[in-house]
Amino acid sequence: MKDDTKLTHAGRHPHENHGAVNTPVYHASTILFPTLADFDSRDRKYVYGRKGTPTTSTLEEAVSALEQAHGTVLAPSGLAAVTTTLMSFVEAGGHVLLTDSTYFPTRKFASGLLARLGIEAEYYDPLIGDGIESLIRPNTNLIWMETPGSLTFEMQDVPAIVAAAKKHGVPTAIDNTWSGGYFFKPLTLGVDVSVQAATKYIVGHSDAMLGTIACNKAAYPKVLDTFLQQGNCAGPDDVYLGTRGLRTMAVRMNRQHENGIKMAEWLRDRPEVMRVMHPALPGDPGHEIWKRDFTGASGLFGFVVDCTDRAALGAMLDGLALFGMGASWGGYESLILPSDPSKMRSATKWEPGGTTLRMHVGLEDTTDLIDDLTAGFERLNSARP
Ligand SMILES: *Cc1c(COP(=O)(O)O)cnc(C)c1O
Repeated sequence: MKDDTKLTHAGRHPHENHGAVNTPVYHASTILFPTLADFDSRDRKYVYGRKGTPTTSTLEEAVSALEQAHGTVLAPSGLAAVTTTLMSFVEAGGHVLLTDSTYFPTRKFASGLLARLGIEAEYYDPLIGDGIESLIRPNTNLIWMETPGSLTFEMQDVPAIVAAAKKHGVPTAIDNTWSGGYFFKPLTLGVDVSVQAATKYIVGHSDAMLGTIACNKAAYPKVLDTFLQQGNCAGPDDVYLGTRGLRTMAVRMNRQHENGIKMAEWLRDRPEVMRVMHPALPGDPGHEIWKRDFTGASGLFGFVVDCTDRAALGAMLDGLALFGMGASWGGYESLILPSDPSKMRSATKWEPGGTTLRMHVGLEDTTDLIDDLTAGFERLNSARP
């Protein structure tokens, strides 16, 4: 089955739910056993709310179909999915390799809590490719990837990193939030675990926090065991919103692919824009890798504006009518946010000059978005010192 069909059908069991198209929201802590023999046999699929219900199984099955995974574990946020995955592989005295371009809170966890537990986090150049092999040590527990990188959008050579990892028996995991699991299939390239902030494209409407951990056969029991030990379960209403979002994900992602490229091309030709970071644009340093490994691009990309004056930037951003300013992305609406990636790395430098911004392009008509930004650039130019 093709992805668009899977997204519509996977995980649905109408005739187990009185014919309802969607699996209902099971609000459950206690799950009752009808007889002592039933209780003693312990072979029921659902035994306690924290461990899963038909509501969670539906989303797990659908995400497994999307990511071509053996099994999926849900988490109450994207960050919880990241930390559950890391905790599934690390050992005291171990070593973890993380891309320097990774999502900043992932970095904070690795350099914070993991360091406290005696696990060393080492950051590598996102463009390292098969050069990763020289950083692998006998105590390396995991290699963490994210492509394109958060805020800076470098493309990683996933197959090259996986090949080096496999040579040394090191498991690999990836933050696959940008592609939604729709435009990129890390498990088919040999990655063991694909994590998503489902908060972004799976939920798709900026109204719930959720994480997904899609695992191959070897990784699934490890991740499931960590999940069960930690008790970090996602709430039923948020899981339902995730499933509801996932059903329309294909149309949203394809439109956001188109809209994102239109906006990135328009920005590239603006005199105020020094650089656009969007791997689907020919000429982007990651374009060849993107073309090889991905089937599309989401609506999230970066650009650099030739202005560091906060007041002038404020004049531009504060007056935008269609772009919200705030964390997260992946919803139906457009966003814009300045960032300072130079403060978030250690193995590489980010010094493009100007101010780095991140744009998330939603489902609006791009002619309206362009009008809004044109007026914004005019305000920027008249407010420059
Ligand atoms: C947002 C995000 C996360 C964390 O997701 P939350 O649901 O906000 O906890 C993880 N990775 C990436 C790449 C993200 O953009």
